[in-house]
Amino acid sequence: MTHKVLIGIGSNLGSPQENCKKAISLLYELESISILKQSSFYQSEPIGKKNQPWFVNAAIEIQTTLSPESLLQTLLNIEQQMGRTRSEKWGPRVIDLDILDYEGRMINSKSLTLPHPEMLNRRFVLEPLSEISGSTIHPVEKKSIQNLLNELPPTPVVKKLSGS
Ligand code: AMP
Repeated sequence: MTHKVLIGIGSNLGSPQENCKKAISLLYELESISILKQSSFYQSEPIGKKNQPWFVNAAIEIQTTLSPESLLQTLLNIEQQMGRTRSEKWGPRVIDLDILDYEGRMINSKSLTLPHPEMLNRRFVLEPLSEISGSTIHPVEKKSIQNLLNELPPTPVVKKLSGS
């Protein structure tokens, strides 16, 4: 059985766009995952801790045979493989991979919260996501991704990277 899942990608260390591309190519290599859609890349102003480089963000839609927990483990493995060390919560990161939505499932376990709790307030998540999945209904808010994006304030700034 396969499942459609939305994933958020972000990086603000080294070459952030290359890091995002690398993470996508590592996902692409896995037999248990196919990539169905990929958004453009966006540059986004850091939130929380301001004194750090801007982020590059993107979103992808995948099809997978993995359960939510196994998928999370796979994403954490890729983060580790790419040299992510976990330090401060809002600090710079070589790669961040988040499960945003898993076919509308609602999960609240120790390791996994679905839908991703912070996507609602984050333009850097909703902007790329609306490009590939704007009509998807948020299972808690019962509003489309596009409508949720329209309700957000214009800042912190998110800009589409030209040619991406
Ligand atoms: P962070 O890298 O700061 O986004 O936090 C990663 C941790 O958040 C992981 O170790 C997961 O256990 C936890 N987590 C909870 N819900 C999610 C989700 N929907 N997607 C990814 N990580 C999640």
